[in-house]
Amino acid sequence: MRLTYPHMGEVYIAVKSMMDDIGVESIIPAFTTNSTLRLGSSISPEAICLPYKIMLGNYINSIKAGADTIIITGSCGPCRFGYYGPLQMQALEDAGYNDIDIIILDPPREGYGKFLEGLKKVAGKNSRRIIPSFINAYKVCSELDSMNELLYYTRPRAFNKAELRILIHEFKKNITSVKGSAQMLELIRDTKRRINAVDIDESLKPVKIGIIGEIYTIIEPFSNLNTEERLGDMGVEVHRSMTVKDWVQNNVILPATGRKGYKLERKLSKPYLPVLIGGHTQQCIGHAVHYAKTGCDGLIQIYPMTCMPEIVSRSILPQVEKNYNIPILYLIVDEQTGEAGFQTRLEAFVDYVSSSSL
Ligand code: SF4
Repeated sequence: MRLTYPHMGEVYIAVKSMMDDIGVESIIPAFTTNSTLRLGSSISPEAICLPYKIMLGNYINSIKAGADTIIITGSCGPCRFGYYGPLQMQALEDAGYNDIDIIILDPPREGYGKFLEGLKKVAGKNSRRIIPSFINAYKVCSELDSMNELLYYTRPRAFNKAELRILIHEFKKNITSVKGSAQMLELIRDTKRRINAVDIDESLKPVKIGIIGEIYTIIEPFSNLNTEERLGDMGVEVHRSMTVKDWVQNNVILPATGRKGYKLERKLSKPYLPVLIGGHTQQCIGHAVHYAKTGCDGLIQIYPMTCMPEIVSRSILPQVEKNYNIPILYLIVDEQTGEAGFQTRLEAFVDYVSSSSL
């Protein structure tokens, strides 16, 4: 089996860590570019959401590099994500990519048996390694979150922002060549030490902006045009509301111990949206309220064009904006999104938030 998986931020690092530990060969898709998106869009329905198109482009690139099996998570929630796996499988077949197996890992809340069944199919005779390699992959996710937090703090304060850019570029290059969770953890910790050594202006008090919205779009830098880096370079301290580790914790670990995930988000979003309507709408609203209460100066909601759950969040957020007197920028992305317009909107928003917080 030569396994591949779509890009979504650092997901490829966590999954590679787990697959290396289990002993399954991974084909990491080439990092997403405009040509990946064009490739995926060429066999996608025009109105479907951006993550679907990018993921298809990732699969085709991996298949061309030798992958024969795709692993993705599934969902039964009331949004398109639940249909991604079956639809993408059909699209690949129609495009002539036959004999590709897609393993869909349904979330454990649908039953741990089905979740483990998918993993056992991947692990084969090494199934006993699933749990320890999962625990180690979770540690990798935690270290990545901590490295990102450090980056969010350092980037706006760094005297030489190019130094950080080079450091992260080297990290991305090296993380694909190391093997297994132990080597990955070592590299992440070493990168953290190097970030800590970057010269920063400790006296700077940057504006703080929280990123909320659709999970894929806020985690995958290609789909949000590297918003975190752009804001950091403008001198903003970024806080991202969702991470891969959070997803695993709330969707896999807590349900395994009989607890419900996203407790804070559900509590804070209740006055605005008391029921689950699919996607991460309650998380988006809950994080907006949390950031407003904990000192963020502004919020940016990012979501793909036609994203059903986030359109609902978009209609609720103005009320949060009013109740907490916090400015919110709404950014919708699709394959037509232009870089210049995006940058201008970010700059104008940062200017506005900076002057409002004086
Ligand atoms: S949350 Fe939005 S973008 Fe993501 S799959 Fe559902 S409809 Fe598409």
